[in-house]
This record gives sequence, C-alpha cells and structure tokens, in this order.
Amino acid sequence: MGYSGFRVIKEALTGHKGWKPAWRDPEPQSAYDYIIIGGGGHGLATAYYLAKEFGKKRIAVLEKGWLGGGNVGRNTTIIRSNYLLDGNEPFYEYSMKLWEGLEQELNYNAMVSQRGILNLIHTDPQRDAFTRRGNAMILNGADAELLSVEQIKKEYPFLNFNDARFPIKGGLAQRRGGTVRHDAVAWGYARAADRLGVDLIQNCEVTGFRIENGVCKGVETSRGYIGANKVASCVAGSSPRVMSHAGIRLPIETTVMQAFVTEGLKPIMPGVITFGAGHFYCSQSDKGGLVFGGDPDGYNSYAQRGNLPTVEDVCESGMALIPALGRARMLRMWGGVMDMSMDGSPIIDKTEIGGLYFNGGWCYGGFKATPASGMCYAHLLATDTPHKYAAAYRFDRFRRGYVIDEKGMGPSPSLH
Ligand SMILES: Cc1cc2nc3c(=O)[nH]c(=O)nc-3n(C[C@H](O)[C@H](O)[C@H](O)COP(=O)(O)OP(=O)(O)OC[C@H]3O[C@@H](n4cnc5c(N)ncnc54)[C@H](O)[C@@H]3O)c2cc1C
Repeated sequence: MGYSGFRVIKEALTGHKGWKPAWRDPEPQSAYDYIIIGGGGHGLATAYYLAKEFGKKRIAVLEKGWLGGGNVGRNTTIIRSNYLLDGNEPFYEYSMKLWEGLEQELNYNAMVSQRGILNLIHTDPQRDAFTRRGNAMILNGADAELLSVEQIKKEYPFLNFNDARFPIKGGLAQRRGGTVRHDAVAWGYARAADRLGVDLIQNCEVTGFRIENGVCKGVETSRGYIGANKVASCVAGSSPRVMSHAGIRLPIETTVMQAFVTEGLKPIMPGVITFGAGHFYCSQSDKGGLVFGGDPDGYNSYAQRGNLPTVEDVCESGMALIPALGRARMLRMWGGVMDMSMDGSPIIDKTEIGGLYFNGGWCYGGFKATPASGMCYAHLLATDTPHKYAAAYRFDRFRRGYVIDEKGMGPSPSLH
C-alpha cells in the first residue's frame, strides 16, 4: 500500500479500516544469502539498499527485540554534515544528500526538517578552529556560515550572551542541518525493505556464529540456527558483545548516552544549538518539548538507562547556556548504549573471518549517518569492495596509525 495525501483523506472518511501492517512478520527461513544482525537504522537501511540498489534477494534482518527499539529510537534526532577531516566530511555530506531525498525515496514521512544547526563559539581559538572546519565543509560541497553575535541574538535572544561564564562570541551555522523524526526512519526503511522482499525477523537474538575453516556459515539464534552466505553485524552498542561470539575483539567500548525532553512549550528554538564551552545541545521537537543531551555516562555499561549524576551534569551545562531552561519541567529521560570507537569514527569493513562483516563504532553520532552507512555497507556486502565514501572506515587504520580523530581526543571514548 502506497502512502499519499489522498490515502490519508480516504481513510479518514472511511473509519481508518483500510490500513495494513507496515511490514510482514515472517518466520525465519533455514538459510539466506545475506543476514544482517540488528534492526536499528543502519541494519534496516543496509537491507533496503542491498535489495534496492544492488538487486540482492534472500535477505533477512535479525533483531533481538523490536525494530527501532535501540539507539535509532533513542537519539536526539540531529542530522548535520559539519565535520573537518577528509575521512569524515565527504561521507557525512553524502548522508545529508541522501536525507534530502529520503522521504520521497521511501514513500514515508520521516519529518526531515532542515531547520539548521548552530555551533556556538566562546573563545578566539575556537573561532579559528570553526572557521577552518567551515572552510573544509565548503570545500566538500557542504554549506557553512560564520555568524556574528548580533546575528545569533536575532535568532536565539534567550541565550546567555554577556552575563555568562562563557560569553558567546559567534557561531558556525549549517542551515541544511536539522532534525529527523528518529523512529520514523526505522519504520520507513523497514517498510520499504519489506516491500522489496526482505524478511524482518523480530525477537530473534543472535547468540553465536557457526565458523568452519575460517569462514562464517551462519548464525545461532534464539529461534534456531540460520545459514547464510554473508553475515553482517550492525548492532551499535552491542558490537563488542556480539563480535566476541566470533572471537573478535574490537577497538570499541560501550557507554550509555542519555537524552532528555521537557514538557511542551511554545516555539522558542528555531534550530539546533550546541554549546561550545561544554557538552550540551538542544532543539525543540514539533510537539514543543526541548530535546537535549550532553556528556555520556562516565563508565562502560550495556544498561539502556541513565544515571542521576549525568542528569545533573547535563542540566548544569544547559543552564549555563540557557538560564530559562531552569523554568521548564523535565518530562522524560532515557539512555542508549553506544559503540564508542577509539578515535571517535566508525568502521565499515570485512573482518578476518570469511563472510563476516562489521559496521559499528558510531559513538553518539550515528543517526545522521544512517542513509550513507546503509548504502556503503550494502556496497561492501554486495561487491566486497569499500564504497568510495567509506574507504577510510577500515579496521587497519588503527594498525597503520591513520586514525580519524575528529575531536583530537585520542583513544579516550569517554571524551568523544
Ligand atoms: C541519547 C542518544 C542521543 C543520540 N543523539 C544523536 C544525534 O542527535 N544525532 C546522531 O547522529 N546520532 C545520535 N546518537 C547516536 C545514534 O543514535 C546511533 O549512533 C545510531 O542510532 C546507531 O545505529 P543503529 O540505529 O543501527 O543502532 P540501534 O538502533 O541501536 O540498532 C542496533 C540493533 O541491534 C540489536 N541487537 C543487539 N544485539 C543483538 C543480537 N545479539 N541479535 C540481534 N539483534 C541485536 C539491538 O536490539 C538494536 O535494535 C545518539 C545516541 C543516543 C543513545
């Protein structure tokens, strides 16, 4: 069933009796050509592009819980392509271009909203760094604009400009950045993949790999053994746990990241803002809630929930930037488990085991990467060669010392 304005009106007039489930609920088959582990944004996008762009058949996505129950439905919905380094900027700009056509492509309203993102500047050296980053963005075909304090005051008059420990001295804006309704991305890709014949199998946890003579033949799951020609891990924060079943130790640690939302307020925040003197970022959802986040929790954990010291830390940062935030009541907060890589950049690569592939290390920035990650991973799975935009995201960069350390934090996942 295609979705359209006409369909919405027709269903409204006929009691909404004609809607069908957005995807099938198939039983797992005994074997597939491609098994993708993880029904998050990246896994679903990979399955979709494998079928759509590469014409592959016999594809299954195995999800241990429900589709979209992981980070794709837990993030703060921000998309942007404001990176500095060569390995990153072309990839994220490619993703941005895919976002721009995504809703038409999937026939699904993902509420892609290019409301703009603004990184605030608080020191002169930071202005130099952001100017350099803006230039790198422009050289890679992205948009970037340096804003003065006066320009920022017109758009965000409620920020703490002068009476602040960290006065605002300007900002780097990317007008094409913004937000996307996160779980609609999972649902849109799931529906589109299902329409191309992909089996989406929920409540199916991968518990092991069957490896014979260095080649992966299939996966052990909570619903029995399933054979496959190629197996692709795409489980975000669960990456170390899942890959350990294949005896692989990753340059990745898992940490919890929390998000927060206030009660619905009248529109005050036109775009996304990030604090340059602390780790805090904020946007306003279409329902009116201020959606914000900050530092990850200070220790490794697989628990998908937050802790109180981080709540205090994030709210302190928020209050330093937006004193009025203290008058809003917080409605909800939640946590997701993130795959923090040792240089803060992702990995899309084959493993040393034949037929076993890996996608992960997205840290707390993988939502914006969803379309490009899916496309590049599908390219790798279908052709056994890296996609040109993901050529830098290989395991061997750690061995060769060619890390993509965007923030210059080194191997300190808690700082990325
Ligand atoms: C609080 C928070 C805020 C964030 N904000 C942003 C943001 O604003 N912008 C941005 O770009 N990024 C953001 N991120 C990061 C982003 O959400 C992630 O990098 C991205 O969603 C990860 O990819 P995914 O969608 O495929 O992951 P997930 O949705 O987590 O998908 C992985 C799936 O694998 C499944 N799985 C795990 N183990 C197994 C198994 N053994 N067998 C089968 N299935 C399994 C899980 O259940 C899960 O559904 C944020 C993350 C968090 C937690």
